[in-house]
Amino acid sequence: MIDKQVLKAVRIKPGENVRLREIDTRWPNGGLKGDLDHYRSLATELLRDNLEQLAQKQELLYADDRHALLIILQAMDAAGKDSTIKHVMSGVNPQGCQVFSFKRPSAEELDHTFLWRCMRALPERGRIGIFNRSYYEDVLVTRVHPQWLEQQQLPDGKRGKRFWRDRYEDINGFERHLARNGTAVLKFYLHLSRDEQKKRFLDRLDEPDKHWKFSLADLAERAHWDDYLDAYDDAIAATSTAWAPWHVIPADHKWACRALVAEIICKTLDGLNLRYPRATEQDRAALAAARRQLTQESR
Ligand code: ATP
Ligand code: MG
Repeated sequence: MIDKQVLKAVRIKPGENVRLREIDTRWPNGGLKGDLDHYRSLATELLRDNLEQLAQKQELLYADDRHALLIILQAMDAAGKDSTIKHVMSGVNPQGCQVFSFKRPSAEELDHTFLWRCMRALPERGRIGIFNRSYYEDVLVTRVHPQWLEQQQLPDGKRGKRFWRDRYEDINGFERHLARNGTAVLKFYLHLSRDEQKKRFLDRLDEPDKHWKFSLADLAERAHWDDYLDAYDDAIAATSTAWAPWHVIPADHKWACRALVAEIICKTLDGLNLRYPRATEQDRAALAAARRQLTQESR
């Protein structure tokens, strides 16, 4: 189990000021001292335990059928969103889990409000839904590149502080609606350092099998690093709520990132008070009748 203080440290409290530049990208509160291999093996063991539990909890979520879990992953490029999804969800029944990746919006999507495409992809009751990027892009990438707002066919108006505040408010309202109706919302920002991003980009360039992962567009976005951090600071602070908290997960060590994410997902499912549906008197009578019919079959 990960120390409660560590879990508390990664969770952003409602109204808390956020300064990502001051948050450790290796382990919460600079907690890694000495032998890294030791921590790596502890984290790997913990992840294994949590993955086993996650498979069971997901089955319970499915059977209970009153709740859904929506996991939102946001990060700079190469922070490990894809590999976190791959590892953390590896033990889960694929039928109970849905992953959606949100790229630059299509013409059809631009014809609707920024929440629309994500609403259509929400997990049904009993399922875990993962958003690889999300409606948060509309207060992040569009904030860094405000000219992209022009494609959104919005009514006239200023695009200043007020505009972004309204969007945060819409997001909070939307997530509150989800939470009130049984969808738990968990948000993770995978917090990568600029140096580690550079290292991962260079790895992609060095290894022919990883070339496909490299994109010149990622390099262009890297040039806006500081603007992104500012946008994330504001968005995370404004939208970390009691009903849909943000977690800032150190992502320079992939093993640390995965262990933390898996643990938080397990804890969140535990908090939903899931239970297997109880058969009613009538159900039990029907089951007994079915048993009789089967045992009395002549062939
Ligand atoms: P990977 O690179 O691992 O495949 P990715 O999530 O970075 O995953 P890309 O296809 O590289 O996927 O990039 C998607 C791009 O789409 C990102 O740069 C993101 O900022 C952009 N995007 C997502 N939503 C919006 C939006 N609403 N408006 C404008 N751009 C968006
Ligand atoms: Mg990318």
